[in-house]
Amino acid sequence: MAEEPQFPPLPDIGDILDRKKRFIPKKTTVLKCNECNIKYSREFKEGDYVFKKIDDEECKECHRGTVLAVEEIYSEWIDPKKSK
Ligand SMILES: [Zn+2]
Repeated sequence: MAEEPQFPPLPDIGDILDRKKRFIPKKTTVLKCNECNIKYSREFKEGDYVFKKIDDEECKECHRGTVLAVEEIYSEWIDPKKSK
């Protein structure tokens, strides 16, 4: 069973070092509700991995517990200067 987090391939290291001077990383987890089928994202939490069942949060739409699963995890670089 592959239960490790899966991340997209990283760009080359020089690129990362450059961006780290200015950008801050932000990880987002996309959750899917098995009850009402909506997908929504929230801030990544430690321990999240793709296909993980979330049993300590309830769906923000139908408010049922133990119906959420992690659909996707992605990271992006945020430019603090550009954010409003
Ligand atoms: Zn729901």
